Amino acid sequence: MKRVLQRPPVGVARTAVLIAAARATEQRHLRPLFTDPLAAGLVEAAGSASDLNGVRTLAGEHFVLRTRYFDDQLLSSARPQVVIMAAGLDTRAFRLPWPPGTTLFELDLPELVEFKEDALHDLHARPRCERIPVPCDLRDDWASALIHAGFDPNRPTAWLLEGLFMFLPPDAGDRILYWVSALSTRGSTLALEHVNRAFRELPQMRAVHERFDALDARWRSDVEDPVEWLASHGWHASVTHPADLAARHERAVPAITDPAKVGDARIWLASAIHAV
Ligand code: SAM
Repeated sequence: MKRVLQRPPVGVARTAVLIAAARATEQRHLRPLFTDPLAAGLVEAAGSASDLNGVRTLAGEHFVLRTRYFDDQLLSSARPQVVIMAAGLDTRAFRLPWPPGTTLFELDLPELVEFKEDALHDLHARPRCERIPVPCDLRDDWASALIHAGFDPNRPTAWLLEGLFMFLPPDAGDRILYWVSALSTRGSTLALEHVNRAFRELPQMRAVHERFDALDARWRSDVEDPVEWLASHGWHASVTHPADLAARHERAVPAITDPAKVGDARIWLASAIHAV
């Protein structure tokens, strides 16, 4: 039975409902870029995300394209361990065809994890890999929590950091990348999203910042060169322009990532392999 749960996500965790709502909408597309049968039920359990409709209108198509980008990165990595940082209402454990023997860890704030587990239970969701939720605050000692949950630093890992870094102060983002790298054996992969300063300062983003500030989900950081940032932590990275991604999938370039409309403002989509 579907129901609105008692304690829907609040604060920065509420942004996870926004992304799930975009994924749910994509299911009505004639040729969806991915299938996510659980997204609508998760949004329903959270009591809808209509307060964030303005953000979704602006960035919904980007959320869809980035979902497909990271799906493809994770599946082509085919590493036996997957760690999804700030997983939110991500349902990749349930919807992607993982190789046999895959273990997938999902990290997020304890209250979000609790909500998600209750909602998935109500939706009778069954994972397609071994799935281990790890409630933690990524500004604290999440690495110990991950190891305690069964993560093995000697196994090659595919890391995903989607829709996270902008919400963290620069030093917290750096610390996360430090520990991700320290826990990565050679051949591990990483995929991330971040933005540059020009993107944060776009006039089109003002209303988004106001909305997020009201949620207590302020954007706190940016990066000018993600390839260099990742290289400083031992990763060999490449960046995909969101406009190229849209072209690859025969979709219109979302206005928020269209160079003709936003100039040098960039949402970074990067993938990397650990070289040390
Ligand atoms: N990656 C998911 C996706 O794309 O669907 C969720 C992205 S959502 C925009 C941001 C997520 O970051 C939320 O689920 C929120 O709870 C999580 N988050 C933000 N700050 C966090 C922190 N300090 N520790 C753990 N999770 C955090």
